[in-house]
Amino acid sequence: MLLDLKQGILYGPVNSRRYGRSLGINLMPARDKLCSFNCVYCHYGLTRRCTLHAGKFASELPSADDVIAAVQQALKSETAFDLITFSGNGEPTLHPEFPEIANAVVDLRNRYRPAVKVALLSNSTGLVFERVREVLGRIDLPVLKLDAGSARIFRAVNRPARDVSFEEITYLLSNAGDIILQTVLVDGTPTNVTPLDLHAYFEQLVRIRPTEVHLYSIDRPVPECDIRLVPPERLHKIAVQAKTETGVEVKVFHA
Ligand code: SF4
Repeated sequence: MLLDLKQGILYGPVNSRRYGRSLGINLMPARDKLCSFNCVYCHYGLTRRCTLHAGKFASELPSADDVIAAVQQALKSETAFDLITFSGNGEPTLHPEFPEIANAVVDLRNRYRPAVKVALLSNSTGLVFERVREVLGRIDLPVLKLDAGSARIFRAVNRPARDVSFEEITYLLSNAGDIILQTVLVDGTPTNVTPLDLHAYFEQLVRIRPTEVHLYSIDRPVPECDIRLVPPERLHKIAVQAKTETGVEVKVFHA
């Protein structure tokens, strides 16, 4: 079953499995997912608008002024939340004004609720833009996706836009500083959990050296694909193996 797209700039607060109550910010259109990936497990389904260049759809995106006003209002309100998360209907860093918005949200948080964290859930492709890389250091919890250890699995699982390169993204991740890496593991067709795939993925962990890795599998059926969840026991075994082979802290999250 697919999830409904978010219909406004702000959504929630929703209970996050990791950090408490999260107020979501959606910088993408309400009508269709806008993303540089079409992941096989995406709970928003396939998009025809798979691109790195969201500026083409600027008329459908919320303006920086509207986003900043909405966040300011939420921060000044009585609504309780522990973090503000850039996520929503696709890839937030593709919004042409993402750096300005992220800087303003951090400034507002500092002013109104310094204890609230600012998080980013990203598929990592925005790292190709220097302005996105520059603002990343201001985000308390930059959570960046890597589901593959090779270009072949990257293409099969994430189905990126044509001009997205696995080599470039992993290089940029390895230079991104203190980041949390988020990985979704799936079995079936395609899969990223064969011994060879895991070995290649562990090599990327050694290269990228994230502060920690968050491992997931899918938690709902995916109608158009022959993929299956990786059961929690297996995720835990993979986490132990990853930590032993790479020295990186690995945490497992499951329903
Ligand atoms: S990166 Fe996220 S929003 Fe984009 S296709 Fe993958 S799961 Fe869906």
